[in-house]
Amino acid sequence: MTPVLSLRGATKRFGGLVAVNELDFDVAEHEVLGLIGPNGSGKSTTLNLISGALPPTAGTISLRGSVISGLPAQDIARRGVARTFQLVRLLPSMTVLENVMAGAVFGHRRRWGHDAEAQAMRVLDLVGLSRRAQAPVGSLTYIDTKRVELARTLAGEPKVLLLDEWLAGLNPTELEEGIALIRRLRDEGRTIILVEHVMDAIRSLCDRCVVMSSGSKIAEGETEEVLNDPGVIEAYLGV
Ligand code: ADP
Ligand code: MG
Repeated sequence: MTPVLSLRGATKRFGGLVAVNELDFDVAEHEVLGLIGPNGSGKSTTLNLISGALPPTAGTISLRGSVISGLPAQDIARRGVARTFQLVRLLPSMTVLENVMAGAVFGHRRRWGHDAEAQAMRVLDLVGLSRRAQAPVGSLTYIDTKRVELARTLAGEPKVLLLDEWLAGLNPTELEEGIALIRRLRDEGRTIILVEHVMDAIRSLCDRCVVMSSGSKIAEGETEEVLNDPGVIEAYLGV
């Protein structure tokens, strides 16, 4: 079967720095792929290449067999690639519902109206936030802003969801809720790339992992196998 997403030789240079170096991997439909590696190894840059926030210096990225690399970010989003950012980006003076409706309108060419609102309420329910629909985003707790961001992303009905350290900064209770929420998305059969430092989350959510170090892929395979790989442990510990 054609993978949902394929990277072939994906490379990003910033001046002399090779942030992503000839990266190859596929993501299958309904798969939750962990993209892990130490700080600065190129994970966020890889998501930027996939979402079109940055054009690759070389290589190609395909969505269901058609090349998307080189397209404007907005076109890539409309083809069904959606992401959350490491730092939450929302419109603080607008309500939860309006922020999520914006995702439905932007991501799925819906018009601002009943249809977008119904879609927004559906995903707010999914992330457990429907009772806060009318609250201004600026009044929410941190985890609730993360839920809104996820809901906004889901409102566009993405084919591939890119989560960049979505669990970062949560306390232990929130972390459990956050993992449970991603598990719900996984059980719905969504296709997800999970960039994450929380190893419990990687272990319990990811079928497979790709490990990056200094821009290059150093390991790929089933999660347990990859996490026990001496080369991977060495890259993490920096020994
Ligand atoms: P990670 O998400 O794995 O922590 P990043 O992809 O953010 O790593 O960064 C990989 C490398 O690329 C780092 O050395 C970082 O400083 C560099 N980098 C990332 N974005 C830019 C940019 N826009 N301009 C210059 N260098 C960047
Ligand atoms: Mg990052």
